[in-house]
Amino acid sequence: MPSTAPLTPPAAPGSEARTESEPLSADRERALLWRLVDAVTDPCFFTGLEGRLLIANASARQLFVADEASNAGRRRAVELNQRLLDTALASLATGGASAVRRRDLSLVDPVEGTDLLFELVSTPVQEPGCTPGVVCVLRNMTDLGRATRALGESYRRLRASEQQARSERLRLDLILDSVADPILLTDPAGGTVLMNDPAERLFAAPHDSGEATRRRARTNDAHLSSFLSHLLSPGNARRWRGELPLVEPGTGAPMPMEAVASKVLSDQGETISIVTLLHDRTEALEKARLLEQLRAASNKLEAKVHAATAELAEQNEKLRRQAFQLEQASAAKSQFLANMSHEFRTPLNAILGYTNMLLQGVSGEMTPQQRRNLQRIDSNGRHLLQVINEILDITRIEAGRMPLNAADFELPELLQEVMAEMDPIVARTKLAVHTALAPQLPPVHGDRQKVKQIVLNLLSNALKFTHEGSVQVSADSAPATSTVSISVKDTGIGIAAEHLEKIFEDFQQVDSSPTRAYGGTGLGLSICRRLATMMGGSVAVQSTPGQGSTFTLHLPRRMRQA
Ligand code: ADP
Repeated sequence: MPSTAPLTPPAAPGSEARTESEPLSADRERALLWRLVDAVTDPCFFTGLEGRLLIANASARQLFVADEASNAGRRRAVELNQRLLDTALASLATGGASAVRRRDLSLVDPVEGTDLLFELVSTPVQEPGCTPGVVCVLRNMTDLGRATRALGESYRRLRASEQQARSERLRLDLILDSVADPILLTDPAGGTVLMNDPAERLFAAPHDSGEATRRRARTNDAHLSSFLSHLLSPGNARRWRGELPLVEPGTGAPMPMEAVASKVLSDQGETISIVTLLHDRTEALEKARLLEQLRAASNKLEAKVHAATAELAEQNEKLRRQAFQLEQASAAKSQFLANMSHEFRTPLNAILGYTNMLLQGVSGEMTPQQRRNLQRIDSNGRHLLQVINEILDITRIEAGRMPLNAADFELPELLQEVMAEMDPIVARTKLAVHTALAPQLPPVHGDRQKVKQIVLNLLSNALKFTHEGSVQVSADSAPATSTVSISVKDTGIGIAAEHLEKIFEDFQQVDSSPTRAYGGTGLGLSICRRLATMMGGSVAVQSTPGQGSTFTLHLPRRMRQA
């Protein structure tokens, strides 16, 4: 748009005095009109049909006119505004001849450089005798635009908050419904604002439910209201805990509830609402009841155990006393037997001594009958002495008073001695008795006397229970186990399997009847086994009835006192 120089108002005419009745001069009228137009705060101007700015008031000139004295910034802003105005006017030029047209027009403030928003109101003027053109008024909408934008922003924020509130409410509903315990939100007047499904089942029976169900729900509600009244009265505590005797509305089954209610306060401390949480105590009460039963049963059991323990203690005491008495009795018995053995052995040895003297003829020659009788006395006396000695041995072993005397000895020598001692008895039999010794038998460290006693006993048994055939005494060693063994094998009557263990017990014989064919006390094997055990060894037997027996003494090469 070409700028126009004659836009500025003419110089004010002289202010000569004028009366009301005097008509205004044309100049004066023109000056007044300019003053009037410039006084209008909205920019208004008149353009030719080609868009040239012909008349402009002060506000319009501010926007669209720059002279040589204006700075470069202002000139650029004015140039831009003129271009924007041209474009706007061109777009409005299509309407009818006299139509008032409006549109928004954004311009730049040439002084501040800020954006300005105007409503451009243009009215084409085409009167006969007048220059045709367009009268334009710009109404400043900048503040309105700003206000509209601010309003839009507020509205957007409001929508966003509303949306957030809605999703929060949704989330809250989800949380409330996912909690298994009933939860309620009540207003200060006691009205229910919100409750989750479990709470609804307790306090709000469905409309289509029966009268009984609705009545029970109402009763539950009455219990809750009475509970909440503790909190609703002014000045009361902020939290309240209690128990509600509710029922399941559908069935009437008791549902004892523990309730905790808390006030929700505003910033000013006023009660906004009350949150109530209920917890079903049925299971807890049942558990407590079972626990009580368990405790009672446990107490009963404890009492029984107590009684049984006391009884047991009493029995133990009795047993202890009995054991003590038995020990004393056993000690007395051992002492008695030791004394008695001694008392028996002294006179018996005297009898045997005198008998021997008589047999040797110190009192003169005897008739054969007298000699046979004396020999019987001697043989019976020796048997009695053996019995007494065996009883004494058992007694000593039982009392732990059988001493062991360890020394090194050779087995061949020992067996030779045994054979020599048994020679008179062997001579009275028709048996083939021989020894079989392994070569290079090692020396043994042990109680030689006890080993000899055992072998003598085994050999005399073999001779006693064998009528024909042979008896063999053999000795061997086992370097791997550092043991030696002495076996007595016979071809005698043998022992049935069921008696093999029994014969090692005190006073036990295979045949213990009064009419038995073999003499003896039944103590020999018992003594043998006990002595062997004392030396860390053992006595074993293998036997077949009618074919014979083998008794074997196993001993460590070096005695381990048991
Ligand atoms: P005793 O020989 O004095 O009866 P033992 O304790 O020595 O007592 O023997 C117990 C029993 O074992 C014997 O009475 C006998 O029945 C049986 N017995 C022992 N040795 C033999 C053997 N070599 N053959 C058969 N039986 C035997």
